Amino acid sequence: MSDTASAPLSSDITRRRTFAIISHPDAGKTTLTERILRAGGAIQMAGNVRAKGERRRTRSDWMGIERDRGISVVSSVMTFDYGGCVFNLLDTPGHEDFSEDTYRTLTAVDSAVMVIDAAKGIEDRTRKLFEICRLRDIPIVTFINKMDREAQDPFALLDEIASSLALDTSPATWPVGRAATFVGTYDILTKKLHTTVELPEDDARLVQMREELELVKAALPEFDKESFDAGHLTPVFFGSAIKEIGVTDLLDALVAFGPPPRDQAAETRVVKATEPNMTALVFKIQANMDPNHRDRIAFARICSGKLSRGMRLKHTRTGKSFAVHTPQFFFAQDRHLAEEAFAGDVVGIPNHGTLRIGDTLTEGEDIQFTGVPHFAPEILRRVRLDDAMKAKKLKQALVQLAEEGVVQLFRPQDGAQPIVGVVGTLQLDVLQSRLKAEYGVAIGFDSTPYSLARWITGPREKIEAFAAAHRSAMADDLDDDPVFLATSAFMMRRTEEQNPDISFHDIKQIG
Ligand code: GDP
Repeated sequence: MSDTASAPLSSDITRRRTFAIISHPDAGKTTLTERILRAGGAIQMAGNVRAKGERRRTRSDWMGIERDRGISVVSSVMTFDYGGCVFNLLDTPGHEDFSEDTYRTLTAVDSAVMVIDAAKGIEDRTRKLFEICRLRDIPIVTFINKMDREAQDPFALLDEIASSLALDTSPATWPVGRAATFVGTYDILTKKLHTTVELPEDDARLVQMREELELVKAALPEFDKESFDAGHLTPVFFGSAIKEIGVTDLLDALVAFGPPPRDQAAETRVVKATEPNMTALVFKIQANMDPNHRDRIAFARICSGKLSRGMRLKHTRTGKSFAVHTPQFFFAQDRHLAEEAFAGDVVGIPNHGTLRIGDTLTEGEDIQFTGVPHFAPEILRRVRLDDAMKAKKLKQALVQLAEEGVVQLFRPQDGAQPIVGVVGTLQLDVLQSRLKAEYGVAIGFDSTPYSLARWITGPREKIEAFAAAHRSAMADDLDDDPVFLATSAFMMRRTEEQNPDISFHDIKQIG
């Protein structure tokens, strides 16, 4: 057995498909998620995707924000079997104010399904999320949804994706009929017709489809797996989530060529997903999912090998070891113990604040994964403390919440009150209500003159000279890395021009 021990492990790993869905609100992400789960036999649980159940009411106050505003703040992982593969669909917060969370979740997937509304084409948020995927060249599969309605011409849509995202498009399926007469798809890759009704050979929709396929052949690139894997070409599927058309085309394709768990770069080497030793990367922290136990859950993606419950893991940032007795799988709002998990899977590891975003866990090897980014915040506010007696407590609480990624924390080098940075204002509400509920600290926010933050790097003496010259606009982040705060984009540009020895970054790689 021992000489073949790694073969079953390898097959367990290569049949993992870990992906996320990216889209603009209303394009149909929720509907498609439900249909995908149904196709994967997880129908019972599919209801939970939308459920605003009683259980949520018992959660802490900031969950109250989620409840009151009917938005999804929490990410979760939905696991299901389909076509011999194990799929992990990483859900992301629906609200754009939590986009930092979404961005980080995208660092834990091997591919993304980009859902586009067939009438609207590429929209703002799709573009933004796509850009995040592009940072890591994540392979993108496109699903053009709502083909059962008045839609743009398929060629025009393909053209728009190609030109506005600078991404090659290769139709994987072609629509049969349009709007009210849309009845199915022709799978270009497998040459199979999938329609909801039998169509005679001379049906006008088939005639139109054959003509269009000639054009496709002549004008558009064929699917090329290498280009897809490199994130340069997207296979495009047409469908209607609501009518369940095209959904299995998409899943079948992910089974056939969806990327298995990728290799992960560490500072000193690249770790292959099929290596027998377990490694994992923490990409997200969620606190107080259960308000009665002030626990934190670190979401870790298994990068290689297999995690078994009870395993001793080395936390490479601190060098300390600990046993994972209660790794958990999350399904929508439910969780259960994970006995084992393979590369590509995501597990939640309860802890009391030792694990941080970007941390690496191994069976003993001293490595640090790279690649979990921080994104420059778009809104900066100064924290105002109402009760000066609580200054120390506030300081500690802010650090904890920043470690979780609720906000980013910047400590001005001139000693002024801390500044928090967020991507969306709702994050400020969450910070305020959690500080009150969990730490008993009431705060308000004051505006700052700053509208932009950039991490700066360069030769040490240049950084020091720059910091001295811009003292009031300098701050340190959670890791004590220097950050320059600018009052406007104009001012930022000018500062960059005047300081050619210094690089300004709107993304910081953690680790
Ligand atoms: P999300 O905001 O991206 O999660 O979008 P939803 O899944 O909530 O869908 C937004 C709206 O579009 C809802 O009213 C859906 O019923 C509708 N919708 C979703 N998919 C389709 C589709 O394929 N065809 C049509 N006609 N409507 C759809």
